[in-house]
Amino acid sequence: MKRITMIHGAGGTVMTEMIKNHIMKYLGGSNAEVPLEALDDSAVINDIVFKSDSHAVKPIFFPGGDIGRLSVAGTVNDMAVMGAEPVALALGLILEEGLPIEDLDKILQSIAETCEEAEVNVITGDTKVIERGSLGGCVINTSGIGKRSEALEKNIQEVKKHRSFKERWILDSNLRNGDKIIVSGTLGDHGLAVLSAQKGYSFGSQILSDVAPLNKMIMKLLNVGGIVAMKDPTRGGLSNSLNEWSEKSKVGILVKEKKLPIRGDVEVACEMLGLDPLEIGNEGKVVIGVVAAKAEEILTALKNTKEGKDAEIIGEATKSFSEVVIETIVGGKRILAPPIGDPVPRIC
Ligand code: MG
Repeated sequence: MKRITMIHGAGGTVMTEMIKNHIMKYLGGSNAEVPLEALDDSAVINDIVFKSDSHAVKPIFFPGGDIGRLSVAGTVNDMAVMGAEPVALALGLILEEGLPIEDLDKILQSIAETCEEAEVNVITGDTKVIERGSLGGCVINTSGIGKRSEALEKNIQEVKKHRSFKERWILDSNLRNGDKIIVSGTLGDHGLAVLSAQKGYSFGSQILSDVAPLNKMIMKLLNVGGIVAMKDPTRGGLSNSLNEWSEKSKVGILVKEKKLPIRGDVEVACEMLGLDPLEIGNEGKVVIGVVAAKAEEILTALKNTKEGKDAEIIGEATKSFSEVVIETIVGGKRILAPPIGDPVPRIC
């Protein structure tokens, strides 16, 4: 009998297959503008952006963050990358018997602080308690609704000055030949921070999670305009995000390895552990597809924000091939295949 394994939740090709072969077999078929079938960061129905995200990070406190901050940022970011302004959140707490009340308070305080940062409120929710098991303290589901913003309209008007664009939202399928690809900062920090907490590794310097709500930063970028696609490279990392774009937009993507922002200590730790920083999840970064004429302006705007100071233009969409290809530092080219799954379990 086939059973669920940890890799089914690791955000790579195995999880995608499970979603397509099992979840999509039974669900879908709505008339939503961006439906379940789009498998995008959020859905859109009646101009409402709608997202649900469960957070099962282990441990619940890790260097640079905790499950509370993660559950607000994760849902807010998935709505913001569609071009939406978050309106409200629903919080579902699943608490494990034995969780110290002190820890619950710490998590709730962190949720409140992150909500304040993102300027969004929790307006409904639910609390359940289950028997002691392997949860590691608690699991949190955060759902959210978002709405269209003036910044999104302005962004789309700007895109239309440069090329034809019929979409009303920022979607994975919007990338076209010649669009530039930007990442907002260093890659792999979150996954390695959680891994160090899981295994008790020390990497010489402390690697902190990047977990942060990015909606305020994204609004600034939409006001500059020219953005066609946007994604938070969480499970499966940059590699998974770019492969999703390439598949859904039916376009190749060329990435320059020397442009990829990766912290020195993250690179060393990845080499030591045999991990690829491009396959490791981030929780405070975005990948952006932008019309070429606006790429430098978006980059400058990003560099002027706290979260985007290490941003780089890392490549472009191309019709010369149909895969994601990486140009290595020495000038060779290799295909960046979608990961089977994020190599670090339970990072979000
Ligand atoms: Mg996402």
